[in-house]
Formats: sequence, C-alpha cells, structure tokens
Amino acid sequence: MSRLLVIGCGGVAQVAIQKCAQNNKVFTEMCLASRTVSKCDALKDKLEKQGTTVKITTATVNADDSADVARLIKEYQPDAVLNVALPYQDLAIMDACLECKVDYIDTANYEPEDTDEPVWRAAYEKRCEEKGFTAYFDYSYQWAYMDKFKEAGITGLLGTGFDPGVTSVFVAYAKKHYFDEITCVDILDCNGGDHGYAFATNFNPEINLREVSANGSYWENGKWVETKPMEIKRVYDFPEVGQKDMYLLHHEEIEALGRNFPEIKRIRFFMTFGQSYLDHMRCLEDVGMLSTSPINFEGKEIVPIQFLKALLPDPASLGPRTVGKTNIGCIFKGVKDGKEKTLYIYNVCDHQECYKELGSQAISYTTGVPAMIGTSLVLEGKWKKPGVYTTDEFDPDPYMEMLNEYGLPWVVDENPVLVD
Ligand code: NDP
Repeated sequence: MSRLLVIGCGGVAQVAIQKCAQNNKVFTEMCLASRTVSKCDALKDKLEKQGTTVKITTATVNADDSADVARLIKEYQPDAVLNVALPYQDLAIMDACLECKVDYIDTANYEPEDTDEPVWRAAYEKRCEEKGFTAYFDYSYQWAYMDKFKEAGITGLLGTGFDPGVTSVFVAYAKKHYFDEITCVDILDCNGGDHGYAFATNFNPEINLREVSANGSYWENGKWVETKPMEIKRVYDFPEVGQKDMYLLHHEEIEALGRNFPEIKRIRFFMTFGQSYLDHMRCLEDVGMLSTSPINFEGKEIVPIQFLKALLPDPASLGPRTVGKTNIGCIFKGVKDGKEKTLYIYNVCDHQECYKELGSQAISYTTGVPAMIGTSLVLEGKWKKPGVYTTDEFDPDPYMEMLNEYGLPWVVDENPVLVD
C-alpha cells in the first residue's frame, strides 16, 4: 500500500506510470503531476478505462520551483516522489523531498538548463580541470545531498533508467554471482529501431543531442581519458539485432561505477548511431542549432536547441512507426577462482511489442520499466537506505527478478565476442 507522486508525463513517465499500475500490490494510489496537466489527465483516463485499481489523481506542477513541488507534496502526502521530468529539475525536486522528508527517485543526473549561468559555469570549469571530463552533467550536485538525506532519514535513488540504472545493476549482479574481481566493463547501447524519419531522437531531443554531441570519455586506471565527439568507433554484431557501428560516449554511470568499484581498471560506454543521424547532427551543430545559449530573434530571446526540439517529432509519438529491436548490456572481463573470465549480460527489447503493450517505443519502455522497479524496491523497503545512492549500491537480485517479471528479460552469455 503506497502513494506515489510522479512528476513529468512525457515518453518515459507514460511507461513508468503504466508499469506502476501493473504492479498494483505496491502502488495503490498515484498522483500524476506535470507542467502540462492534460497529458496526465489523458493517461489517467486511459488507465481508468482499462479498469485500473490504482486510485489516480492529477495535478499541475512547476518542477523548476522547489516551493511549488513542496506545496504539492504537502497536499498529496506521498510516500515517495518519482522524478521523470528532466534532469534540469532534479535539484529543485530533491530540495522539496528534503523539506517534506519523502523518498526521491530519478532516472538521470542533474544538469543545468542554462550552461552560461556564471556561478555554475565557474564551478563547471573548475571541475573540468580537476576531473578531466567536460560533460555538463556529473554526480557531484546530487552526491552533495548524502548527509542531508541521511539526517532526514530519506532515500534518494539516482538514475534508475536503463543506462544508467539497469547497466549498473548488471555490474553489481556480475560481481555478486560471477566474479571475484571485475577488471573491465564495456557498456553497449544498441538501438536497431527504425522510425522512418530522416532525423528524430528517441528521448527528449535537448537532453539527447547535448549528450551525443559532447566529447566522449572513458575511465582508465582511476582517471578519465577524454576523446573528441565520435572519435572512437567500433563495429559490433549484436544478438538479435545484427552488425552496427557504435561510438564511444561519456555516460553518467561510468562516474558512479568508477567510484564504487575502484578495482575496475577500464569502463567504456558505446552507443550505436546510423549515418543519417550523425550527418544531420553534424549539420545542425555546424549551423548553431544545438547551442544552449539564448539568442535574440526578432526581439524575442530563444534557445536554439529548444527551438529545434519544437520542430522535431515528439519522442512519445514514435511508437507506432518504430520497428526493430534494442539490445543494451554490459560485457565484463575479470577473474573468478584465479582464472580469467568474460561475461555478457544484455536485454533485447522489441519496439513493436512495447507499442502493442503500452503504446510506447522501446527507448521509453526500457527506461520507464526500471524507473518503476527502483521506485517499487524503495517503497517495499528492499532498497531503502537513508542517503543518496546509485543502483549499483544495492542488492541486485530483486531488481533482476523484477526485470524478468515486468518485460525486460535478460540473457547471460558466458562466451561473448569482446570489443577491442
Ligand atoms: P520528455 O521530454 O518526453 O518528458 C519530460 C516531461 O517532463 C514532460 O511531461 C514535461 O512537461 C515535463 N516537464 C518538463 N519540465 C517541467 C517542469 N519544469 N515542471 C513540470 N514538468 C516538467 O522526456 P523523456 O520522457 O524522454 O525523459 C524523461 C527523463 O528520463 C529525462 O530526465 C531523461 O534524461 C531520462 N532518460 C533516462 C534514460 C536512462 O536510461 N536512464 C533514457 C532516456 C531518458 P511538458 O509535457 O509540458 O513538456
């Protein structure tokens, strides 16, 4: 029996909410709150028409304003808040949870909307120099809540999507059941789906394009090694998808895994991209459309990447037209009983199957299901621990069981082809 407040009602949220409704032993009441409340109302109607037993209400909230989130928490009195809005809102929502002493869960780590803001910029430049990577996001802002969350007796579960989220659980699971020591991890994210558009992003365009157009980096011997965007390319033959080009990116779980598993000598993250996506992205970048700095256009201030977002297809609308499969997982090298060992744990997800079940494509599905699972484990008390933690810091077994139960079954291959 629990009451959940969900903030955001986009592609990922719609899956997470529908999966919470399937898990109605844990989630008995939900408030769906977002900037555009009509999306929450439409989803409430859909679930009620399907006969859900979960008691659903909706609300408008401005999650950039921590006081507004705190107002809603005080009104609704939830047991936990699931933040599936955007990374820009993480800190405002965490502040509200702290004020109201309510558990907090999200799927992506904090990054600021305005990367030109002078105070943030100065801290960012210092961090780039000290840590050696230039991504706009890092865990320092949320890890800084550790003591405050401990004192308040509340749990903050950070990054429970697929990557980060499931990929980090795969690492904890491999360590618990297959290795005495893990020495290398390659995280491979392959989307073999085709939506038929020349260019579209599978989740929030602004967040996606910021991530993909940034420098790459990987963790090696306790340090970051940074690369130019798309500098490192490999080709991999993915089970059930086939051969794809993949490129090394910076990715947030590397930071947490590097800290929490100091034995791992190298952690890399690769994502597949087709040539059309890369050509469009390069062109948009060259003409300044990926810029996050506001410009003045005919007397009105606009942010180019936000304008681009308005032109691109809404990721939530890609479901009916996307065919093909995703394959996301981790390849491990390490040692067990004194012998070298390799292992691959992955999930394959079919876009059309996801659409048939929930009306969403596989990228939203593979993120929304783990968002529900992490929230459920916190609410059930299995993953409740005052402080702020990533998914690799808990017992992986109940999470792995729920992946099988709620639509993301995984495969263990003890003889994988490695990435050079
Ligand atoms: P969408 O853009 O589809 O949805 C975002 C939602 O948040 C929208 O409903 C939006 O409202 C709402 N929102 C935005 N700003 C505010 C605000 N200030 N106050 C209240 N609501 C707000 O994004 P996605 O669903 O694609 O992504 C959601 C999250 O999931 C992101 O943080 C993303 O980074 C993360 N993600 C994580 C992945 C992982 O594997 N870990 C993979 C993919 C995504 P409106 O409808 O008005 O626009």
